[in-house]
Order: sequence, then C-alpha cells, then structure tokens
Amino acid sequence: MVKEGRFMDKFDVVIIGSGLGGLLCGYILSKEGFNVCILEKHSQPGGNLQTFTRHGNKFETGVHYVGALGKDQTLARYWNYFGLTKSLPFKQLDQNCYDMVSYGEHEFPLAQGFENFADQLLPYFPETELALNEYIRDIHEVVSAFPLYNLELPKDHREHLYTTRSTYEFLRKFSHNVNIKSRIPLSSVLAGNNYLYGGSRMTPVNVASLINHSFISGAYRIVGGSDQISQSLCKAVTAQGGTILNNQDVNGISQIQGEFTISTESGQQFHSAMVISNIHPAATLSMMPAEMVRQAYQKRIVSLKNTTSSFIVYLSLKPGIFPYLNYNYHYHASPDTWDEAEANDKPWPRMFLLSTGCQAHEQQFAETVTILTYMQFEEVLTWEKTTVGRRGAEYMDFKQQKSDRLLELVYLKFPELKSAIEHVEISTPLTYRDYTGTPEGSLYGIQKNFHDPLLTTVMPRTKIPGFYFTGQNTNLHGALGVTIGSVVTCGEILGLAYLLKKIQNG
Ligand SMILES: Cc1cc2nc3c(=O)[nH]c(=O)nc-3n(C[C@H](O)[C@H](O)[C@H](O)COP(=O)(O)OP(=O)(O)OC[C@H]3O[C@@H](n4cnc5c(N)ncnc54)[C@H](O)[C@@H]3O)c2cc1C
Repeated sequence: MVKEGRFMDKFDVVIIGSGLGGLLCGYILSKEGFNVCILEKHSQPGGNLQTFTRHGNKFETGVHYVGALGKDQTLARYWNYFGLTKSLPFKQLDQNCYDMVSYGEHEFPLAQGFENFADQLLPYFPETELALNEYIRDIHEVVSAFPLYNLELPKDHREHLYTTRSTYEFLRKFSHNVNIKSRIPLSSVLAGNNYLYGGSRMTPVNVASLINHSFISGAYRIVGGSDQISQSLCKAVTAQGGTILNNQDVNGISQIQGEFTISTESGQQFHSAMVISNIHPAATLSMMPAEMVRQAYQKRIVSLKNTTSSFIVYLSLKPGIFPYLNYNYHYHASPDTWDEAEANDKPWPRMFLLSTGCQAHEQQFAETVTILTYMQFEEVLTWEKTTVGRRGAEYMDFKQQKSDRLLELVYLKFPELKSAIEHVEISTPLTYRDYTGTPEGSLYGIQKNFHDPLLTTVMPRTKIPGFYFTGQNTNLHGALGVTIGSVVTCGEILGLAYLLKKIQNG
C-alpha cells in the first residue's frame, strides 16, 4: 500500500504530510486524475490519526470521537464521498450523554439531538427552558453562516459576525441561570467540554459552535481505532494511482520557472507543478528560501500563537474491573474554565478529559483509558533539544511525578480505576511535537483569536503560484474541520462548486 524504495520523482502535486488533511486532498486530487505524491516523515501515515500499541493494547493519539456522523449529517455526507462511512465501524455514544461535564462532585450530561440536549439539562436548570432553546437557536444560527457545514457554497458571507465574537462573551448571557444545588452556572456547563477546542478567552464563537453543533448532532467513536481512517484513505489513494512515501522528512521547498523541488532529509528530491502543505505553516515557510516568501507574510505566520499542548496518560487495564464508558468525562476543579488552557501556575492539573478505548460494538469493560489535560510547552523546555527515547532520567522522573499528580485527581472521581491499572504510558508536549511536527506540541495548531480573525486565519491559497495549505491550521481543527478544510483547499484547484457537486452526489 505504502511504497518504499525506487519511485519516480515527478508529480502533478506533492503533498507534504499525511495527516487527515493531506490524505483527503490526496484522495480528491487522485480521484480527479492528478498524479499525486504524499510525503510523510514518519514510518506510519496519519499524523493525529495514528494509534500505538503497548502491552497488546491499542491507543488513540488524536481522534477519540467525531461529530455529525449520523445518517445524512454533515461529516457522514462528506465521508460518503471519501468511502469512509461504508468501510469503517462506528459506534454512537450514549444518546442522553455523549459528554459528562463535572465540576467537583456535580455532574451534568450533554446529550445528542438538539431537543434532547435541552431536555437532559432541564432537570438541573428547571427554569431555563427558554435559555436552553436560545442556546440551541444561537448555535444553529452560527452554523448557518458557514454553508460548507451544510455542503453548500458560501453565499452571503456572514462568517465575520461570529469570527469576531468570543465564545466567552457568547456564553456569558447564560451565567445567570444557576444550578440550585451546586451554584454552577449554565454557562460553565455549556463550556464544560471546551478542551475540545482549547477554549480560552480568545476563542471565537464559530469555533465552539461548529464543534458543539457537530457533537450534539451525533457523536461517534471508531471501533478499533482511528488509524482505520488513514488505512482506508491510503488504500484508496494508491488504488487511484497516487503514491504515498513514508520516512520522507521534507526539509526544503524551492520553485524555479513554475516547477517546485521538494527535498527530504534522506537526500531525495521530488518535482511538481503544485504543492499542498499539510504541516504547520510556520514550519513550511522555514523550509523555503527567503526570496520565495514575502517578508511580511513570513513574519505574520511565525508570530502566530499556537493552542496549548497536552499531557496525556494512557492506561492498560486488567480485564473485567473498570466499566467501558460510552461517553467522555470532562472534569474541572473550578467553574471558571476559560483560564485552564493558558494557566501555568499551580494548582496543576485543573481539568482532565477521560475517555475509554472502544474495542468492540458491545463492550462491558474498558481495556484502556486515556486521560488528557493541558500542559504548557515551558514545562518541558529543559528537554527541548532531545529526541524520542533519548530524553534522560530527569525527564522520566518529571513524567512520572506529573502522571501521579494527574491520577490522584482522577481517583477522586474514579477510585475503582486505581486497582484496575496494569501499565501506564505517558506523553508530553515533546511527544506530540516530535510525532506530528506541530510547534511546541500544540493540541490544535494556530490559536484563532476573535480580536483579529483575519490575522489568525491561514488561507489555503498563497501568493506563491501553485502553493497551497491544508489541515487544521487552515479551516478548523478536528475531523470535521479538517475534512471541510481539505475540500476548500482542493476547491481552489478544481473549483469549489464543481467539487461540492461531486461530493453532494456521494
Ligand atoms: C490529543 C489530541 C486529541 C484530539 N482529539 C480529537 C477528537 O477526539 N476528535 C477530533 O475530531 N479531533 C481531535 N483532535 C484534533 C485532530 O486530531 C486534528 O485536528 C487533526 O487530526 C489534524 O489533522 P491535520 O491534517 O491538520 O494534520 P496532522 O495530524 O497534524 O498531520 C500532519 C502530518 O504531517 C507530517 N509531517 C510533519 N512535518 C513533516 C515534514 N517535515 N515532512 C513530512 N511530513 C511531515 C506529520 O508526521 C503528520 O503525519 C485531537 C488532537 C489532539 C492533539
């Protein structure tokens, strides 16, 4: 499937990086008859779709659940075109609670289905029927300003109404609706899963609304692991005549008389008329000679802030002890969630997201648990120059101490987990930096900022003729955001109306 060794070096399009965005672009363009080559620096394609196996257990690295995958919902309609809905096994999370939001001992369910979402929260906020309906109306309204989320061409350009407003302010109007028992405001419950978008006071309201809308529509896990997405796409790309080369760490991009030359660490060179970069824009520009990029553009891209990174504990469990949870658990120590991502003072951690691995359609007990929290890159700065597996004893001690601290917090909610643990695996911001090439191991790439949405948005088409961006830094992060982003990028090459029509037809 993935070619190694001898290969031709001239292509219509070279795609740098085989994350979801790179693979989807490769799929679209190879289907349209382009001679495509995808270059991936790792031995395994997929970027955040990669899984890893420890002690016989498989773990997700970057896609734990996806939204809008129910019949005729947005992601399902896009993924029909990519052949993913038929080839992959999906399991729907609990209708009445796909995300449990917890503040201390108080728990609030976020449910699927828009009416059901309000119905399930109403017992906790008995006088808020109008407020809950208003919230639902609001997020429908936001999504309607982004027609690609309904497979329609952009028309009246109302996006700016929402890219210039903060999620924090948007939810503040629900802060007067308070749960009597806990004194937790509805606004905090609605922001309770904001780890999904690295929620900070800068987050524009479209980011939170597009993501929450998709999960309320329908929330699903991929039974057996999200690496099946990349496997399915790689198979299709190669069947359509494309080439995917692993172990090709791109380190140079130049252009002479309209032809690009892409060089890799291994000393090989590839030539093409077009290039799509699926990697971070700052990393991409650093590979180009100064004369190829306008200084002001380079300066802007390099100065952009990235979302905070993560610290993650992966647990292999003894059989038959800890239940499989068909929902995700978002815990917060305090109802003020908006400073959690940026905070670098104590106490740490202030929140965690716990998710059990989905190995089968019917599953009573969990075989694996993944626990995610925020971590600033500064925490691991001492080991910045080290590489995977060679970071030294002090780093191992650091990881162990942090893991113990995180697990202490988790045991307060899930005491039965302690006796179920067989093995612990840990990742830090350095792990993500080195596995996906994202600067500082950032969770979701460039931080969108409602104060300056144009400045913090990277357009897929660049001023370099034939050079494009795709992936989480262009449209939006996450499976749905990156899927739509790949359509926008390829739409620049093929024509968006033409491509959308093909996708609408499945
Ligand atoms: C911890 C975590 C949890 C997440 N959970 C979810 C979730 O539950 N649901 C969801 O929808 N989204 C989730 N996301 C977000 C989602 O995984 C990403 O937004 C998405 O997968 C990013 O895809 P991408 O195409 O932008 O590229 P990436 O996945 O970043 O892939 C980029 C690829 O480029 C390669 N590369 C980098 N540099 C080079 C180079 N120089 N040469 C060649 N190749 C290179 C990398 O190795 C990688 O394969 C999560 C992310 C993280 C980090």
